[in-house]
This record gives sequence, structure tokens and C-alpha cells, in this order.
Amino acid sequence: MKTVVLETWQLLKMITHQLTWAVNRMTVRFRRRKLEKDFEGRKSQWKRNQRKYARTRGLSYVKACGQLVEEKQPILNGCICHKKCRLKCSDKFSSDERQALFDEFYALSSDVQQVQ
Ligand SMILES: [Zn+2]
Repeated sequence: MKTVVLETWQLLKMITHQLTWAVNRMTVRFRRRKLEKDFEGRKSQWKRNQRKYARTRGLSYVKACGQLVEEKQPILNGCICHKKCRLKCSDKFSSDERQALFDEFYALSSDVQQVQ
């Protein structure tokens, strides 16, 4: 009788031990996956910020889809608007003024740029 009790107890002890081990392993795996997810999230967030900064400053950057966006250049010579523009913007703004407006615009923050 005594040996049966002892054997049962040892069996229970073994099962408990194995269960604890399994749970620990799962917890470690879960934590690692969460860390990897957090890292990926931060990485993509960082890339988004890089793109946003480049877009705001008129610099060249690569879109999320892989498309390259060229660096923005001011139109110093030739037409700014369509040919039939009544305000004659192309005549009114000199190259220097165009360059100054361009620099001023890309020096603004993205929020202010959107209001313009
Ligand atoms: Zn115009």
C-alpha cells in the first residue's frame, strides 16, 4: 500500500514538473515573439518617420511600395502654371523669387505645408 502511494506521488511530481517546464517554455516563446513584434513595429515606425521627413523637406525617398520619389526641384525657367493662366504667374515670379519660395516652402513643417 505504502509503495503504491509513493509511486503515485512520484508520478504526480513528475507530471507537475513537466507541466511547469512546458509552461515556462511557452512563456519564453511568447515573450520572445512579443519582443520581435515590438521591434518590427518600431522599425516600421522609424521608416515611416524617415519618409515623412524626406517628403516634407522635398528630398528623394523610397515609398513603402518601393517606388523612388525624386528630389524636388524648383521650376526656375518656363511655365509654372498651365498656358492659359490669367494671373501670368510665370511672368510675375523671377527665378530668384521662385527659388526663395521653394526654399521657404520646404523649410516649413508638414502641418503648415498642408494649410497652404
Ligand atoms: Zn498661374
